[in-house]
Amino acid sequence: MKGKLVLLTSLLTSFILLFYVATGVRAENPKEQVGRGPLTKITFIHYKKAFAKPPWAGGNNTTAVKCYGFLARGAKWKIQEPYYVNPTDSGLSSSFVENAVTTGVGEWENYAGNVFGNGNVDASASYNEGNLDGVNTASFGSYPDNAVIAVTNVWGYFGGPPQTRELVEWDMLFNNSSEWTWGDGLGDPTLMDVQNIATHELGHSFGMADLYDTSCNLETMYGYSTEGETSKRDLNSGDIQGIQELY
Ligand SMILES: [Zn+2]
Repeated sequence: MKGKLVLLTSLLTSFILLFYVATGVRAENPKEQVGRGPLTKITFIHYKKAFAKPPWAGGNNTTAVKCYGFLARGAKWKIQEPYYVNPTDSGLSSSFVENAVTTGVGEWENYAGNVFGNGNVDASASYNEGNLDGVNTASFGSYPDNAVIAVTNVWGYFGGPPQTRELVEWDMLFNNSSEWTWGDGLGDPTLMDVQNIATHELGHSFGMADLYDTSCNLETMYGYSTEGETSKRDLNSGDIQGIQELY
């Protein structure tokens, strides 16, 4: 009886192992890997200055602060994918918006190397609620909260061993709030600077997290902005240290 039980148990174990091997080999999604957890979406909401801290921001740290953070350690791009910029409803020219976003990408890639594929203007590129649809997009539209400047959703595998983690999609929405007008904040400080906000949001797309400690307020990844701000166009020392550690 005991011998039969042992045989049955070992047979079952073999079947389970075989099942794992078989499904691993036949995985539909080439990015699927055993042991790194589910594909998950992280949403970053960028608020205008002077509004209350979002609940996840936490308190200010009184000890030495590291001015960079990751979505998850090791969670980065491993395959080059193109991205699509939709200037519709921005009130700006297509070339202005394209230039603002691609320059933002270039600023991160100055330190990370080539991470993204080509940027393309595409009037059909849609935020699509940040849903997973296999397309990386930046577009303009209305967001229900007028204090929100922009929202970026990043999809990826954020669990499991860091070397198995991976980013697989990003979708960015610039809010057409009645509170401000988008444009070139260098030329006119009353405007919300597209390149400034795009460079911050793209930081999330590359794998960087928000910073809310005021001692990090010179970093591109600092969590607040306002009209006329252009300091986020250029990476600061913490941003550079972080992106170089990730890539
Ligand atoms: Zn942010």
